[in-house]
Amino acid sequence: MKFFHLILICAFCLASAALGCQDRRLYKDNRVMMGTFVEVTSPDERASGIAFAEVARIEALLSKYDPDSEISRLNKSGLLKVSPETIYILQKAKEIWLASGGAFDVTVGPLMDLWGFTDKKYACPQEGQIKKALSYIGMDKISFNNKNNVVKFKVLGVKIDLGAIGKGFAVDCAVKKLKERGIKSCLVNAGGHIYCLGDRSGRPWKIAIQDPRKLGFAGYVKLKDRAIATSGDYRQFFIEGNRRYAHIIDPRTGYPADSGVISATVIAPDCTTADAIATAVFVLGEGKGREFAKNFKEVELTVIAK
Ligand code: AMP
Ligand code: MG
Repeated sequence: MKFFHLILICAFCLASAALGCQDRRLYKDNRVMMGTFVEVTSPDERASGIAFAEVARIEALLSKYDPDSEISRLNKSGLLKVSPETIYILQKAKEIWLASGGAFDVTVGPLMDLWGFTDKKYACPQEGQIKKALSYIGMDKISFNNKNNVVKFKVLGVKIDLGAIGKGFAVDCAVKKLKERGIKSCLVNAGGHIYCLGDRSGRPWKIAIQDPRKLGFAGYVKLKDRAIATSGDYRQFFIEGNRRYAHIIDPRTGYPADSGVISATVIAPDCTTADAIATAVFVLGEGKGREFAKNFKEVELTVIAK
């Protein structure tokens, strides 16, 4: 009898060990997309294929670097009938533009070009050039027709750049597809714009927050069914005359934002919101940024200032 019990216990232990292994097994894959690394981690082997296909579809609609994308064609002609996805993201961007008092503005395109962030030929422009570029900035210079999805620029020279919200949106679209295909556990990370779908073998996903000034991490958070995004001055910048000029522009001045924030991390129910709020807080600064973030439900901020 005792021997039989021992065999049962051994069999149980082996079965649980095998199950445990299966539980812990995660498939990881990454690909360069949207100008960054898109990384997918899931116990379901199908996840990366589904996520990459959806991110590629969104990139083909929104990328300003792809001459055939809807955004590039709109930037060229100033008038275009666009997909429901493009009109959705433009309207979402307008809501955040309004709530942030213009600190978040996807019409920063001409300023991104002027400061050399688009082609990585960085340069400090003349005051007059900035003034001219500012005359093309503002979401009030775009009109939307919700009935026929036609977007129109009211001023010639407007240029949309969805760099501050597009990756978050692509992550959300990928997560929607994963859910539709029955995938319950997955981490989708597009260059620090992350969604944690479900959990990881019964425990929340653990996400590290990068230290903005030195190699390593400033901390970590545990998340389940939540998005997280960070905006910082350490990803793309140039230094001239002892000053760091980073790729997030204050559309109200035409100069790279100098609010004192060097990294803003936002946790939100979706990655589109987390991505956009992080950029807005970077521009607004900690105090005004925290006030602004109160407009959104279930949002948490971690701000690192100079
Ligand atoms: P993120 O890393 O999400 O903060 O996005 C930064 C990118 O958003 C930049 O590289 C630009 O493409 C774009 N951008 C820069 N300044 C702004 C701004 N004030 N509002 C919206 N988009 C911006
Ligand atoms: Mg952003």
